[in-house]
Amino acid sequence: MPAIRLGDALVDRVEEHFLPVSLHALTDDETLISRRVAPLPSGFFDPVSKNFRFSNHSWLLRVDGLTVLIDPCTGNGRTGRGPYFDGLDLPYLERLAAIGVNPDDVDVVFCTHLHHDHCGWNTRQDGEKWVPTFPRATYLFVEDEYRRWDTAGPATHPNEFNPNVFDECVRPVVEAGLAKIVPTPHTISPSLTIEPAPGHTVGHAMLRLVSGDVRAYFTGDAFHHPVQLTRPELHLPGCDDPATAIATRRDLVRRALDENAFLFPAHFPEPHYGRLAVETSTPTGDEVYFKPGGAPAG
Ligand SMILES: [Zn+2]
Repeated sequence: MPAIRLGDALVDRVEEHFLPVSLHALTDDETLISRRVAPLPSGFFDPVSKNFRFSNHSWLLRVDGLTVLIDPCTGNGRTGRGPYFDGLDLPYLERLAAIGVNPDDVDVVFCTHLHHDHCGWNTRQDGEKWVPTFPRATYLFVEDEYRRWDTAGPATHPNEFNPNVFDECVRPVVEAGLAKIVPTPHTISPSLTIEPAPGHTVGHAMLRLVSGDVRAYFTGDAFHHPVQLTRPELHLPGCDDPATAIATRRDLVRRALDENAFLFPAHFPEPHYGRLAVETSTPTGDEVYFKPGGAPAG
């Protein structure tokens, strides 16, 4: 997709890949699906397979003189990540180069959380070792999230579906002296702030962009599908804390409406981002829905 302009910021999407996920893992409410999902672009629901196109991508922001990479996907050559993620051999770094960014150009890497599909390209394989992919970057990790996965710390939550991720994708960055472990909120630059958005994982966070009168939130996995904007109580399996995740979604929906802000989630299919609107007087009262796209080209 072409670059998007948000105030003084330029936003690009860096694709890793797509996989099918069942919408019925979120909801089987046919009325809700026909009213709020069916009108969306085709990637959000295939009525034959009942799947949506789960997009695995990063967002790249250029603003305030910084090049900021958000959620660097799964990475090549991983094992133990599960179907669709193991043994990838994809031109992710070439796609980054195609938008004018070489590994040395990345100033900041921010992981909304430390599931494998959000921190994989933090490192790349070099012989037997995993080494930082972006040797000049500061990698920002949110303190609560870092502690939640730290294999040398006290285990506070089970880790049965994210094995080896901390040791392969986080520890080498720390050992190279490139990590900065921060509390939330954390100001990166005049336009960019990391804010808490917990629930999907204990320390899940998001990035807020304010540039001129434009507001945008890079929301990681707070939402996996727009149906959760209408029904924040819906979620895919695998949440650390579903009740907190629901509260976070409700809060984000309210803020996005109040600010007419763009949401840039980590997994929405084309066009991958959008804003919210409200339809009044539906059979269930006022109802929030997703308006895909809407930002000017960069
Ligand atoms: Zn994810």
